[in-house]
Amino acid sequence: MTATRVPGLPVVEDGVLISTHPATGKEAGRVPVADAAAVEAATARAREAARWWQSLGFDGRKERLMRWRSLLARRVEEVAELTGLEAGKPHADAVVEAAGAVEHLDWMARHAKRVLGPRRTATRLLLMEHTGHLEYQPYGVVGVIGPWNYPILTPMGSIAGALSAGNAVVFKPSEYTPIVGQWLADTFAEVVPEQPVLQVVHGLGDVGAALCRSGVNKIAFTGSTATAKKVLAACADNLVPTVIEAGGKDAIIVDDDADVDAAAEAAVWGAMTNAGQTCIGIERAYAVAPVYDAFVAAVVEKAGKLRTGDQIGPITMPRQLDIIREHIDDALAKGGRAVLGGAEAVQPPYVAPTVLVDVPADARGIREETFGPTLTITKVADAEEALQQANGTSYGLGGAVFGKRNAIRIARRLRSGMVAVNGTLTFSGMGNLPFGGVGDSGFGRIHGEDGLREFARPKAITVRRGPSLLPAMTFERTPGQVATIIRALKILYGRR
Ligand code: NDP
Repeated sequence: MTATRVPGLPVVEDGVLISTHPATGKEAGRVPVADAAAVEAATARAREAARWWQSLGFDGRKERLMRWRSLLARRVEEVAELTGLEAGKPHADAVVEAAGAVEHLDWMARHAKRVLGPRRTATRLLLMEHTGHLEYQPYGVVGVIGPWNYPILTPMGSIAGALSAGNAVVFKPSEYTPIVGQWLADTFAEVVPEQPVLQVVHGLGDVGAALCRSGVNKIAFTGSTATAKKVLAACADNLVPTVIEAGGKDAIIVDDDADVDAAAEAAVWGAMTNAGQTCIGIERAYAVAPVYDAFVAAVVEKAGKLRTGDQIGPITMPRQLDIIREHIDDALAKGGRAVLGGAEAVQPPYVAPTVLVDVPADARGIREETFGPTLTITKVADAEEALQQANGTSYGLGGAVFGKRNAIRIARRLRSGMVAVNGTLTFSGMGNLPFGGVGDSGFGRIHGEDGLREFARPKAITVRRGPSLLPAMTFERTPGQVATIIRALKILYGRR
């Protein structure tokens, strides 16, 4: 007998995780659940595989990772469809997500050698008889813990960086999207059948916790801030370093010289794509008084045309529906007004686009991550006030600015790791830019050069190339030589 299932809610039966569509409840697939011993065994296998993977060198890894990239590009419809079956993601959103994953894999594979490979450093005068050498060596085994909202793109940011740097990976996908996670590992194994360089372990949160304690050399976590704290605690025991990509409450600032229609188009997409279940989703807008009315009208007009189902998919995680409803109710109770949608917009498993105005700064929908297709719009006197309010949350992930004269100056002052000027979310699709947040949004970076270095340890080597002219680092130095060192110091560095 099988108990009645809540659509989309993963269940474990007889050691098997069953994944279902959040709207229809149709089964997307099933995978075996790992226990702590199985996770440890996977990490041990990964350690062996890492040795082989490292032995291939940057060029050997690049060749294989590029083949995986090509496979993902050729089979983009397949993984997009799977993401639809499992997370309810509309096809177009899933295709755009997969395109981002391909971009990051491509960039990481192409640039790992240049960014991480051995190089000579410039000679320093005080130690000119030594050459400096720098290289970045892989950690060994990296554990990747991923969320469900972008099950292809977010883990890929870490997986591509870790693999390109020469690590093996043990990946724990969210229990809501195990089938997509398995697909990633299976397709990698098609191009790299020799060793288990990318493995996947399935289960609920305890499997993620077991991964943290399994002997991995680094954890790359993407998920909520609350879970990030548990991950850090689990990693503390063995001093396992972490990169943390957590939640956000991103804002768009619309300045007085902005193209209002373009700002509205970008705000609606940034807020509503993937039904608002986006870490860098736009959840708040601050529009300066001269453009406020026009901006609100344009947002309502554009968001009002969106339809749940094909454009706004279901909310993947059933309990998130309660949070979205609570945030809307709280905003309305505190004096906010719904100019689109509102309390009745939450029709499980869907939420219709909702735009709220006059929401006070202490409302939950202004301070906490809502993760639904909702947007608050607040009127501000000028960009200075917009910045002050936008920076007023504990999060600091991404953000956006629309304007001309001062847009970049405003962008620099947003408390966040990334900002899009005259666009939204665009930084996530550029393989050469780092991605990550400040404050409750986490630390460390994925993507780009910083994202490669995140998965390798810098190794400094000096090599003597001749006798010391100023022998400082030996007990055999003479008083005369020390006097020469003092003179050299003053000549080289003592001038004002
Ligand atoms: P969660 O924090 O609930 O889960 C993230 C992952 O951690 C899941 O695989 C989860 O497993 C696992 N996990 C749960 N408990 C533990 C534990 N004690 N130890 C180790 N791992 C554990 O996040 P969601 O999946 O709900 O993802 C949504 C959140 O992710 C949002 O806050 C969003 O903003 C953020 N996010 C951040 C991004 C970024 O790059 N900064 C990108 C995308 C999302 P299980 O699912 O089995 O519980």
